[in-house]
Amino acid sequence: MSIPALMPVYPRCDVRPVRGEGCYLYGERGEEYLDFAAGIAVNALGHGHPALTKAIAEQAATLMHVSNLYGSPQGERFAQRLVDASFADTVFFTNSGTEAVECAIKTARRFHHVEGNPQRHTLITFNNAFHGRTMGAISATNQAKMRDGFEPLLPGFAYAPFNDLDAALALIDDSTAGFMVETVQGEGGVTAASTEFIQGLRRAADDHGLLLVLDEVQCGYGRTGRMFAYEHYGITPDIMSVAKGIGGGFPLGACLATERAAKGMVFGTHGSTYGGNPLAMAAGEAVLDVIQGDGFLDHVAQMGERLRAALEQMIPNHDDLFVPGIRGKGLMLGVQLKAPADARAFVAHLRDRHGLLTVSAGENVVRVLPPLVIEERHVEEFVQKMSDGARAYVPVADD
Ligand SMILES: *Cc1c(COP(=O)(O)O)cnc(C)c1O
Repeated sequence: MSIPALMPVYPRCDVRPVRGEGCYLYGERGEEYLDFAAGIAVNALGHGHPALTKAIAEQAATLMHVSNLYGSPQGERFAQRLVDASFADTVFFTNSGTEAVECAIKTARRFHHVEGNPQRHTLITFNNAFHGRTMGAISATNQAKMRDGFEPLLPGFAYAPFNDLDAALALIDDSTAGFMVETVQGEGGVTAASTEFIQGLRRAADDHGLLLVLDEVQCGYGRTGRMFAYEHYGITPDIMSVAKGIGGGFPLGACLATERAAKGMVFGTHGSTYGGNPLAMAAGEAVLDVIQGDGFLDHVAQMGERLRAALEQMIPNHDDLFVPGIRGKGLMLGVQLKAPADARAFVAHLRDRHGLLTVSAGENVVRVLPPLVIEERHVEEFVQKMSDGARAYVPVADD
């Protein structure tokens, strides 16, 4: 047998974490890493946050899972809190981001179906998008590396360049259901949507009776210094997918929608065995308690400014390596590398030689996604390690 027991779909590296504490991860031999990847924007409260681990332990001992056939006081309470904290009127709980996206796609299609326009089934999505790995989610992106060999894909998607409003508007026809877009693209290269773009999509949706679906699986839930990234844009969506940070490491996602957009999602149209079980709800509430705590989002915004300023100061010292200008918002930041330097090789160099975890993204970008609970000293340690890493990095030898 030559295939590993763990299906080899990830190019796993030699970091093999066995323990985490705050903003640090520890490997099998006790090696310490400063974790500015945070499980790809998942560990919003860092590792081993006492309120989160306590809530999970207590709920596990009380009631872990019951079927969605029964009433859910836990789900009702958490859903109401998300409704109160957002544009939404109703919430469907999932176990992952891609399932939240899947629910968003289904909600959009059902809306037009019950409105008497079943021909309106096409979502306009965008180049470089990442929406997850289900058949629906890979069909919603035109990135070949995620789609190749999985055809036939789900019909009903059209693709426009990101941040190109005119191109998106030009795709609208009788089959259009709406737009689906990441407010800040993550995997694609940490690219924030422009205000004109998002506001233009909102206006077009209103003018043509379409739905605006935001995918905030990565950029939502406090990551940008606001509860949701759309708050930076002065608009609200009709439907939104959320996951990653929402569970702080517990598998949890949510599809949020207005009453109008969710009008097709009636008894029997959708479901999930695990979705919204009591254990997930306890984890979600514990994370939300912290994020809604006094001054928490201001802290995220402030740390985001510090980190951005520190990176901006560092870049000119390594102008052969870094492209000027920091990408992203809040604590979802990106630094683009100049060829021949390669983001994946540089991330490996930081990891293996400097004990610093970051993530690569599209467009040769190094993604910086620390836990939202970082303090000034973590920013300082990060910049020190990043500068040391940049100084010691020789593109060709490492690649
Ligand atoms: C990570 C991500 C997803 C998929 O989430 P999974 O939990 O891996 O299914 C979807 N959309 C965006 C924007 C993401 O960053």
